[in-house]
Amino acid sequence: MLRHLMYKIKSTGPITVAEYMKEVLTNPVKGYYMHHDMLGEKGDFITSPEISQIFGELVGIWFISEWMASGKSPAFQLVELGPGRGTLIGDILRVFSQLGSVLKNCDISVHLVEVSQKLSEIQALTLTEEKIPLERDAESLVYMKGVTKSGIPISWYRHLQDVPKGYSFYLAHEFFDVLPVHKFQKTPQGWREVFIDIDPQVSDKLRFVLAPCATPAEAFIQRDETRDHVEVCPGAGIIIQELSQRIALTGGAALIADYGHDGTKTDTFRGFCGHKLHDVLTAPGTADLTADVDFNYLRRMAQGKVASLGPTEQQTFLKNMGIDVRLKVLLDKSHEPSMKQQLLQGYDMLMNPKKMGERFNFFALLPHQRLQSGSPQMNACQSKPSASLPVAGFDELAWR
Ligand code: SAH
Repeated sequence: MLRHLMYKIKSTGPITVAEYMKEVLTNPVKGYYMHHDMLGEKGDFITSPEISQIFGELVGIWFISEWMASGKSPAFQLVELGPGRGTLIGDILRVFSQLGSVLKNCDISVHLVEVSQKLSEIQALTLTEEKIPLERDAESLVYMKGVTKSGIPISWYRHLQDVPKGYSFYLAHEFFDVLPVHKFQKTPQGWREVFIDIDPQVSDKLRFVLAPCATPAEAFIQRDETRDHVEVCPGAGIIIQELSQRIALTGGAALIADYGHDGTKTDTFRGFCGHKLHDVLTAPGTADLTADVDFNYLRRMAQGKVASLGPTEQQTFLKNMGIDVRLKVLLDKSHEPSMKQQLLQGYDMLMNPKKMGERFNFFALLPHQRLQSGSPQMNACQSKPSASLPVAGFDELAWR
């Protein structure tokens, strides 16, 4: 990867941080995400669904709650962006099966947006029935198709745009933080973009430099920006616009969970390797690269087409979703001390403000009608109207 980047920089000049992230993470041949499994204790980082089954179960309940509150449509698509090992969607589908009596007669299909060949194979192993072979077509927009263990049709895509437009619930967990960001530094001459160049002192080392003049991505910086260093993520904006348009048109909801801030942080671009911080410019391709999600930017990119809720801290969201009750049920059911220990450790990791409790946030996009109190909910796909109910997990609404 380093050689590829050096060659690129030598032939076309310094590259933006966004281009660097894109190459390092998703280059089809050598990209970090493309050909290996980096998740879990043996990998480079661990995510909430990999830590505790309760996480996915509560997210599953959130979708059922939204489906009920918005009129129990006869069919919906469950769409996940960046599903990792498929653990989260697996836990959600288990909840859907357990609550089969609630969802009965609802026609559900699963749609996964995944660029990584390796991870899509792991997802298929986790989620599908081996007896029913998968259909594969690398040339098609739907590059893999099958049936889940509970008999639900499941399809894989590389881009959200390729997922059929229909009444859908969207989920993105630790997805937006891997999308490429442009970095800008305020200087006496105005905003200057941070680029990556070859260090003239050490031939196989990369270094950050500032662009000598204004660059196009500056258009993504807000006019009244007060910070002196910002990261902007146009890719996130495009995805939020697409989600907002779809939800405004057909209904449904999007639930986004990630670490991030509300437009306040500055330099958050960093690398992780073997669960430790890793210099972003060293040994590219061997470590995860990430930047905190700017929820304020996501909210602005929804452009008022849909309502947004959050960001709400993970500890608050999960508490409102009933994590304590669920933990107690599982503790009562488990007889092995090691199992109990694991459940308690997982809870602590998800909820402790010093661990994931405060750093991770939940953010939702919903049709405007969903939040208009007292007014019945109706859209083209829904048959039964229902009065507006609070949105589970988001405490500010629960209190209204
Ligand atoms: N949601 C999972 C995995 C998070 S890691 C979890 O919480 O455990 C990020 C995921 O996004 C991986 O599955 C990665 O392959 C995928 N990904 C990264 N860039 C992507 C892109 N541009 N389009 C689609 N998926 C992408």
